[in-house]
Amino acid sequence: MMSSTEYRASLDDGRRVFFGGERVADVRTHEVIGPCADIVAASYDLISERYPDGSPFTLTPRSLEDLRAANDAIRPLGIMTLLTYASMMAMSTAASRIGEAAPNSEYPERIRGMLEEFRERDVRFAQCITDAKGDRRLPPGKQSDPDAYTRVVRRSAEGVWIRGAKLHITGASLAHELMVIPTKAMKPGEEDYAIACCVPVGSEGVTIVDTSTAPSRAEVPESPFSSHDSFPEAMVIFEDVFVPNDRIMLDGDIGFASIFAHSLGLWERVAGLTHMVDDADLLVGLAHLIAEANGLLKVSHINQKISDLIMHATMLRASLEAALGHGSQGHDGTVFPNELYTNAGKYFGASSWHPMVQKVQEIAGGSVITAPTRADMDNPEIGPAVKQHMAGATGDGEYRARLFHAIKDLTAGNFGGWKAVTKVQGGGGLYAQRIVTRKHFDLDAARDAALAATGLSVPPPVADTP
Ligand SMILES: Cc1cc2nc3c(=O)[nH]c(=O)nc-3n(C[C@H](O)[C@H](O)[C@H](O)COP(=O)(O)OP(=O)(O)OC[C@H]3O[C@@H](n4cnc5c(N)ncnc54)[C@H](O)[C@@H]3O)c2cc1C
Repeated sequence: MMSSTEYRASLDDGRRVFFGGERVADVRTHEVIGPCADIVAASYDLISERYPDGSPFTLTPRSLEDLRAANDAIRPLGIMTLLTYASMMAMSTAASRIGEAAPNSEYPERIRGMLEEFRERDVRFAQCITDAKGDRRLPPGKQSDPDAYTRVVRRSAEGVWIRGAKLHITGASLAHELMVIPTKAMKPGEEDYAIACCVPVGSEGVTIVDTSTAPSRAEVPESPFSSHDSFPEAMVIFEDVFVPNDRIMLDGDIGFASIFAHSLGLWERVAGLTHMVDDADLLVGLAHLIAEANGLLKVSHINQKISDLIMHATMLRASLEAALGHGSQGHDGTVFPNELYTNAGKYFGASSWHPMVQKVQEIAGGSVITAPTRADMDNPEIGPAVKQHMAGATGDGEYRARLFHAIKDLTAGNFGGWKAVTKVQGGGGLYAQRIVTRKHFDLDAARDAALAATGLSVPPPVADTP
């Protein structure tokens, strides 16, 4: 397994990263990216300490127990571990599904070989799926810019060259490998866009343009969540990047393009759902603590809102339990989470985040965004008065102010904004979860039940709209 020192050394690979319009000389010492590199490095040591025999979450699950154990293990290990887990599981799932559909395909064996190598090297992944997409009305082959979707521009006996860009890529500048997969299904004529491969971050022709919602150094004391959960988000540009054959998971087979997107979607969404369960519990805890600090715990409308938050947290946990407990097994023994419960749970959590946040902010009050900082409280000239007037019902102004800082960080600051957008857009967006949920819901059974309950049998034919 890699150590924190080896991880830090591995980032010195000539990677081309930009931040705020400037080339980053070294991501490890960069003011914004550097602290994130430290967090990933520390997670390597934590994993070695907890799992001296190797990371259990990179092994393909073979039973529901394996699935749950991996899900529990990754929770505290940070976003890069989570992205790596979801990427490797998606590759495993895609290999299984391609193997089932095309038993003679060479891809599954190649993907399994790559996975073994990645486990051996203990690498971290970023997931490059979302293309720039140009005019959203048009498919890849009909765009005025042929590079609006990432594509193969040249082929040789040794491999392919790819061009295009992937947007919103979390943690790209801190990863070792970019898992590049098609953003959606491809049609005849779009063979060059049906490309799935793994590209080392330091490859020639790869450029990473980072942005971040991380707090500034001065804001860190008020930022209990964003100070360790804000990772750089990137536009990753591929300018004729060479990919050797042994790194290609798919090239030109349009029939399999969507398998990768669906496989990643499933693992991304179960990871998203897992985070939502933890975030929903946090909302309950923060709402209860601030209501108590405000002296309002016994007020009925406050309590009703806390009950609503508890219902929300419980239903999300139930979805995750159902997703993990009702997983299915592929033909080669690979176990996946349940598609229906994963997608419905993720949709429920994403679409209810904003109303739940509103409840917490309503319970808490305006100090969510106006509470003075820790530096103000530490200043002997103003600190005593600031603490006095922040005391609320607790008599401890610093305690209450820190609760406000936490609520701001999670729901109303830069990172709160990131959370709000990510809940809605992450894992392919609400629209994608609606489609997959409908695909896996047993609509026929629901129709039959409705007919039986109403005493009807077969519905009469309905004419098409003229
Ligand atoms: C913070 C953050 C981190 C992310 N991390 C990653 C990552 O690591 N890797 C990655 O690959 N992706 C990542 N994503 C992307 C994410 O998973 C979504 O897929 C992506 O945001 C959606 O694409 P878009 O932003 O281009 O929106 P669009 O595709 O432009 O969608 C905008 C809206 O238009 C609708 N729409 C779009 N096209 C059509 C159409 N033809 N017909 C009808 N409606 C349409 C969509 O449903 C949506 O409601 C991340 C996103 C965010 C916000």
